[in-house]
Amino acid sequence: AKEAGRNTFRSHLLDTGDEALNDLTLRNGLRPALTRGEFSLHYQPIIALASGKLIGAEALLRWQHPTLGNVPPNRFIPVAELSGHIVAIGDWVLGKACQEAAGWAERGLGPLMVSVNLSPLQLRHGSLEASVAAALSNSGLDGRWLELEITESTLMGDTDALIDQLNRLKAMGIRLAVDDFGTGYSCLAYLRRLPVDRLKIDRAFMADIGAGADDASIVRAIIQMAVGLGLGTTAEGVEHPHQHEALKALGCDEVQGYLYAHPMPAEQFVQWASAHAG
Ligand code: C2E
Ligand code: CA
Ligand code: CA
Ligand code: CA
Repeated sequence: AKEAGRNTFRSHLLDTGDEALNDLTLRNGLRPALTRGEFSLHYQPIIALASGKLIGAEALLRWQHPTLGNVPPNRFIPVAELSGHIVAIGDWVLGKACQEAAGWAERGLGPLMVSVNLSPLQLRHGSLEASVAAALSNSGLDGRWLELEITESTLMGDTDALIDQLNRLKAMGIRLAVDDFGTGYSCLAYLRRLPVDRLKIDRAFMADIGAGADDASIVRAIIQMAVGLGLGTTAEGVEHPHQHEALKALGCDEVQGYLYAHPMPAEQFVQWASAHAG
């Protein structure tokens, strides 16, 4: 009962407590979190829809706070962005993800892609290329096995400088994906200018697909546009078999979601990948 009481207090503090106080608690915790080893990465499998084969995984950041317990990324990443800590944390994520992905190959898995989420701040900071280059050389991972996910809203500040930066990242062999696609207001003309390889269709659009003929129209339009531009498509948040079937009929090429697997700790992902190899 004591333990349950404490957990109730914890989640109360995170969910409904004084927001400013909570943010301060989180913010103060972020600096020592890296050195204390409180961060880890979970990996969610990404699957080729046509063959059903595992092709890679998205790295998702987890924070085990010493008193608050597990703090969800949607809660602490905005705080880390406001405080600027996200740049150092993002570097850590890049290094760790490349290191773990290089380990998969050594353990006879793969070759598998690893996808890493980027904060807009990392793109603006100016150290991103050096961080990516360091992560690749320290791990020995070939750049073609790394994918960087950049949200649609980040890319919308579409300037020549941003495009140059993306082109330099592409020159390292890495793949670029537009994350949460469909939630912004991007048009074809803007997408054509960006050196991206793939659109990750936001899970908001998965809810109704497969439920009725008209409900798939947005996803169908996105996939047709992607095909026209020579881009691949990954559907996020696939939870039900009828969504899987609808995506297959629409020609989506990669899928990710609870239907296939939840994000899991690195070691568990290796087990999962071994069981789903070939
Ligand atoms: P995201 O990049 O859109 O990641 C997908 C989120 O959807 C993950 O939440 C994942 O656990 C969840 N998800 C996967 N499959 C399903 C499904 O079938 N149904 C539902 N309802 N959800 C599903 P998570 O891990 O809580 O991450 C939330 C967000 O935090 C991410 O959204 C991303 O924006 C951000 N994030 C996570 N790790 C990092 C990171 O290393 N760096 C940065 N900058 N942001 C990160
Ligand atoms: Ca993502
Ligand atoms: Ca996403
Ligand atoms: Ca998101």
